[in-house]
Amino acid sequence: MAKISMRTPVVEMDGDEMTRVMWGWIKDILLKPFIDLKTEYYDLGLVNRDATCDGVTEQAALAAKRLGVAVKCATITPNAQRVEEYKLKKAWASPNGTIRRIMDGTVFRSPITVKGIRPYIPGWKKPIAIARHAYGDIYNAVEDRVEKGGKAYLVVCDSEGRQIKSSLIHDFADGEGIIQGVHNLDKSIAAFAESCFNYGLENNLPVWMGAKDTISKTYDHRFKDIFNEIYEKYRAEYEKRGLYFMYTLIDDVVARVIRSDGGMLWVCKNYDGDVMSDMVATAYGSLGMMSSVLVSPDGKYEYEAAHGTVTRHYYRHLKGESTSTNPVATIWAWTGALKKRGELDGDEKLPQFCRKLEKSTLQLISSGYMTGDLIPMFKRRGVQPVTLTTREFLNKIAEKL
Ligand code: NAP
Ligand code: MG
Repeated sequence: MAKISMRTPVVEMDGDEMTRVMWGWIKDILLKPFIDLKTEYYDLGLVNRDATCDGVTEQAALAAKRLGVAVKCATITPNAQRVEEYKLKKAWASPNGTIRRIMDGTVFRSPITVKGIRPYIPGWKKPIAIARHAYGDIYNAVEDRVEKGGKAYLVVCDSEGRQIKSSLIHDFADGEGIIQGVHNLDKSIAAFAESCFNYGLENNLPVWMGAKDTISKTYDHRFKDIFNEIYEKYRAEYEKRGLYFMYTLIDDVVARVIRSDGGMLWVCKNYDGDVMSDMVATAYGSLGMMSSVLVSPDGKYEYEAAHGTVTRHYYRHLKGESTSTNPVATIWAWTGALKKRGELDGDEKLPQFCRKLEKSTLQLISSGYMTGDLIPMFKRRGVQPVTLTTREFLNKIAEKL
């Protein structure tokens, strides 16, 4: 077979630990034999981030903005223990945070479902994608305790510092208590809405959104109003494709999602997304089967696995043991990026190959060959599941291809 050529490179962001090891294997075993792989390479491994004073992360994010499509390996977000372990100059910021700030995007997560791997909720036949608003609310809150007898007010000043509004939050005459101040920005909510409606169209999914506008008549209601307003731009296209946007109360969405058979984009405010994405990932099985993409409002894409660098497996790998780390989400990061690159370049061969690669992977798992994390969830009559090491699993996919 002649190798598939690429017109435009994708931005490749290498990473750390076990995922860095798998990254190399995926390229050598599944991609390079079939594709004349063109990438603009940035080494986001912690050693190189430290050597470049984290400059490489910013360069990589700017490259993603320029070329439009990036694929990222999981990276260590350093804490005090990592500073010690890697003898770092400082505890550099989270690379994902830096990239998100520069690309200004929304993170969408979606489980990779396979015949034979049963979700804990048996009715869920199709994946549920989650969009989490990554700005504001309690994540940028100010909080305080108030003593008995105190009074707390919400005060707004104009740009000159003159007080223009004040409302009493609570009179703590009867005893001490707590208060919290949160905010969000119309601009951020609007960008979030645009990203969500684009994702729905790209993936042919109806969009469900929930907040608590009956109780939070100004704050949550603003989310509802902005989403409804922006949906009008998309309505015609949604209706043409038999898709729709539904806003309802968050408790109603939760009940509907549980009763559903999946197959929607669930749009969550920041806190709801934090909580619900963990619930959805767990219900579908393994962290190794959750894909993730950052989409900017102007249509730039960064694909990655949702899990981390799988440190515990890496230490075993360093001791010379072979591990059964699941490479599926990392394969999906590559296929996601290459499909998008092909699509943007009007090149059908690349997406076609990626669909075959995904299909081979899923068929292999449903025929009983998988990494160890999936074994407890696998149930198919007459099929006794076999645990493979990561390399054995990748080689078997290549054979199938
Ligand atoms: P993790 O790397 O996701 O791993 C947590 C545990 O989940 C693993 O020990 C393993 O369980 C299981 N697991 C995760 N991915 C798996 C896979 N592909 N196959 C099989 N099992 C898998 O999270 P962490 O240990 O909390 O974090 C490790 C490092 O990753 C940290 O330095 C953190 O900063 C970084 N991180 C990066 C990203 C990112 O770049 N997007 C995201 C999260 C964390 P068992 O050990 O029980 O097998
Ligand atoms: Mg969470």
